[in-house]
Amino acid sequence: MVLIIQSLFADNVKLLKSEASKTAYQGVAIAIATVVFATGTVCYVNTGTISLEGLWSAQKHNIALWMLNCMPFVFGIWGQYSNSLIAYQAGAMIIDQTQELRTIANVLEKQTVYVTTHDRLTDLPTRAVFYDRVERVIVSAMSCPCRMSILLIDIENFNDIYDALGRNSSDLLLKQISTRLQGVSLKRDDVAKIDGSIFGVLLSEISDVGRAEEVARKIQKTMESPFNIYGLHVSIHSNVGIVHFPEHGEDVDALVQRAGVALHIAHKSDKGYATYEPSYDKHTPLRLTLISELRHAIERDALELFYQPQVSIKTGEVCGVEALLRWNHPAHGFVPPDEFVAMAERNRLVNQLTQWVLKRAFRDCANWHKQGLPIKVSVNLSVKDLHNPGLPDLISGMAVAAGIKPEWIILEITESSVMTEPERALEIIQKVHQMGYQFSIDDFGTGYSSLAYLKKLPLTEIKIDKSFVMDILTSENDAAIVKATVNLGHNLGLMVTAEGVESKEIMSKLMDYGCDVAQGYFLSKPVSVQNFNQWVSDSHWKIADHSPSPILRLVQ
Ligand code: C2E
Ligand code: CA
Ligand code: CA
Repeated sequence: MVLIIQSLFADNVKLLKSEASKTAYQGVAIAIATVVFATGTVCYVNTGTISLEGLWSAQKHNIALWMLNCMPFVFGIWGQYSNSLIAYQAGAMIIDQTQELRTIANVLEKQTVYVTTHDRLTDLPTRAVFYDRVERVIVSAMSCPCRMSILLIDIENFNDIYDALGRNSSDLLLKQISTRLQGVSLKRDDVAKIDGSIFGVLLSEISDVGRAEEVARKIQKTMESPFNIYGLHVSIHSNVGIVHFPEHGEDVDALVQRAGVALHIAHKSDKGYATYEPSYDKHTPLRLTLISELRHAIERDALELFYQPQVSIKTGEVCGVEALLRWNHPAHGFVPPDEFVAMAERNRLVNQLTQWVLKRAFRDCANWHKQGLPIKVSVNLSVKDLHNPGLPDLISGMAVAAGIKPEWIILEITESSVMTEPERALEIIQKVHQMGYQFSIDDFGTGYSSLAYLKKLPLTEIKIDKSFVMDILTSENDAAIVKATVNLGHNLGLMVTAEGVESKEIMSKLMDYGCDVAQGYFLSKPVSVQNFNQWVSDSHWKIADHSPSPILRLVQ
């Protein structure tokens, strides 16, 4: 770097000197011209004519001309000296300013890195940074016998506080919690915000595993006294899950999953903290240890995408399908999608999972349209997808590669996924919508059902949750909810789809209510592409007439 600056400096000085020297040469030329003119004038005044002899005599006897003769030399030397001085000063000024700009650029670069690696609200390192630190300790453990403990801290009643006090108060609460946590931890940077109301603490360089439980108790003690939230005294209940490295796992995913298992046990315990034990795995409803296998399944294309048909209630036409993930684990068999999707959400894997689903769904959708089956394909997006700024580009790239049109796709989102970080989610949804994709609100009725947000979303469809539809015949309440939702949807200018249509009777009741589309076991369970094509050709439901005989070609 020093060499580059030195050579830059030398080049600048050279350039400036050559520019300034031009002016010095002009000064010398003017001085010489003045000497010639003055000598000629003296010669003419003395002899009345211009001759060599007269000129020589003028130069020999006129003292004023002698002094004038010195001027070109004076101009030359003075010019060169001041040129060099100016050139050096200007060059140094440029170098100083370059250095200054470089310093400003460095500061800005550091600020950008900080913003992307720290939680905006609490100023704590993010989950990615936390994982990175854990990974670094694991790597350094190859050369030294390092130990560490990870503590996951969850605020049990955070959602209740959010519902009761609103966003500003719960944000302030999170800030105060993070400050107290930093007070407990040995190093400030070892506390991180993992997700929502979950924090992580990394205890590296510890020799005694008992130290982690000591810190857990200390954390709980610190959280005991109420928080002052705009004059209100708010009490929280925190739980702590603990894992130790290397006993409980050799990679960051396994360690954090097991800390989650321990956290789950801590919720149920009186102490409010628990250290992971392998026997806890069977107590957890989530088979968290499957995460690395899921990663491999995505990479090796070992997942499947099933499709569940959707039929227009009014016309009896097959109008679409919902794409639903299937994973048949070689050892554990069928793993329910809501279980492994939630697991992927917690482990930074869901964007990859959605990418796999979109690619497969777009490919199948393109094939159906090529074969003359003009159906729409609904794809489920997860909350993390709505926080992924790369989603619009990802979708458009995949659509071009597969040769599909945006209007063939419906993206299903849930109210809770939009509510997690509404501004960010809305921005991404708007962007994708502007590209021509339609959005549907899934599981309608189970979330917060904030009409304010519903109004802001660029929706095409509402999907009434199956929990209401399935009991429509036996529960008056559910029937009333379904009927009201159909009316609400229509008043907002939206299509209404009912999922969980298990019988003909439910279907006809939905018809009475004016519901637009039905999806459920009565029509078909979710099936593979081949079985769907077979279903289309066997079923008595109509196919939109866009081709002379689509089915014949579909089932070949
Ligand atoms: P969902 O999006 O609400 O999907 C509808 C679920 O209802 C599906 O469960 C479907 O099989 C089930 N279902 C449909 N009709 C009936 C019926 O008549 N009776 C009953 N009892 N159930 C019915 P599935 O396939 O187990 O999926 C569960 C959840 O997993 C989905 O709920 C969705 O939240 C999630 N999921 C599935 N595939 C994906 C995916 O590709 N991406 C994401 N992010 N989530 C997915
Ligand atoms: Ca869905
Ligand atoms: Ca649903």
